[in-house]
Amino acid sequence: MKPVLIQYAHIIDPSQNINGTGSLVIADGKIAWLGKDEHKPPENDYEVIEATNLIACPGFIDLHCHLRDPGFEEKETIITGTRAAAKGGYTTVCCMPNTEPAIDNQSVVDYVKDKAAREGAIRVLPIGCITKGRKGEALAEMGELAQSGVVAFSDDGNPVMNSRLMRQALDYSRAFDLPVIDHCEDKVLAEGGQMNEGVISTRLGLPGMPAAAEEIMVARDISLAKLTGARLHLAHLSTADSVELVRAAKKKGIRVTAEVTPHHLTLTEEKVLGYDSNAKVNPPLRTRQDIQALIQGLKDNTIDAIATDHAPHTEAEKMCEFAYAPFGISILDTALGMLLSLVHEQKVDLKLLISKLTWEPAQIIGDRFGKLGTLALGSQADLTLFDLDREWVVDPRTFASKGRNTPLAGTKLKGKVVATFYQGKMVYKE
Ligand SMILES: [Zn+2]
Repeated sequence: MKPVLIQYAHIIDPSQNINGTGSLVIADGKIAWLGKDEHKPPENDYEVIEATNLIACPGFIDLHCHLRDPGFEEKETIITGTRAAAKGGYTTVCCMPNTEPAIDNQSVVDYVKDKAAREGAIRVLPIGCITKGRKGEALAEMGELAQSGVVAFSDDGNPVMNSRLMRQALDYSRAFDLPVIDHCEDKVLAEGGQMNEGVISTRLGLPGMPAAAEEIMVARDISLAKLTGARLHLAHLSTADSVELVRAAKKKGIRVTAEVTPHHLTLTEEKVLGYDSNAKVNPPLRTRQDIQALIQGLKDNTIDAIATDHAPHTEAEKMCEFAYAPFGISILDTALGMLLSLVHEQKVDLKLLISKLTWEPAQIIGDRFGKLGTLALGSQADLTLFDLDREWVVDPRTFASKGRNTPLAGTKLKGKVVATFYQGKMVYKE
């Protein structure tokens, strides 16, 4: 295969503090050369990609997605999910263990890893359960899971309600230096909730999930992280006070990291007006004030990463009364376009956004899978090329994901992935 020369792109690589025009060479699956401005690479027979006016950055890393495989292949498979990810600019996804069977033992980890290696478009890093079957009753075989190569532990979809069990999980996780990812929701307080609790839930007559249901668990988990000294990662923060709790914990030196989703950064609970079940998500879409606090959290590094919580469902499942529809948004196809609205509205700097999609989530994963989230010389050529200004209208029928459940159908987005390279191979091209 000829080496690829990507010429005159706007290269943004927060890992090396690069933000300017340049060119780079991909050879043998690695970043072989990178030069600023008009610098020319060594003479060679290149396949040249003219990238003037395009952004080139490390491939995105998603710490949190649901590939639904095994068990729910009607919603998504490792094949369709990784294709959607590649189309969205992602080269690494960490998949949550709420499959059937759940990823709570080595055989399921092996199944995911083998299928991803054979048929997946990009890198898939499985997350193992904290408790057996995600039931919250007994710890999963965390040692076996760690040995079989999980990247973290989580019962996502469920919190670990039992504080004593959560303490044990955090204690054990220290032996493997893997993070425990909690889905922060007090299930009892939020029970029956359909959307954010507030004026709109009252007006719509829908039972609410109060912000407190999340914040109580954020506070508890921070206390347990302090008690155990373990690595805690908080999934999909959605409220202003959650951000405040994490900020205070980091100031105290507690080992906590946090993520936020594209939808919680860009959509409010008003999306639920009209009872659109595609806007039904857990944690629920919140308020404008929450969005402001989440953005502030990104800026001051209280929030480390942007993760999608891609949650595909079938049309039949979502086409029902609001109360009966499952929670979740299929988001890999639209994540970048949604996030770039924050850049176009000058709420977030582009380099910061890229950092939260690449280098910072890579730090949470660590380097056991190679050096990720960087265009450093010699690193794996995981790279995304996108057009910051390309306008397009969301049409769920064109999604690479099987899940068409998006509240954005018909919405105009600005910014689109043009090509994605995984280990030097082009895995998506517009
Ligand atoms: Zn969750």
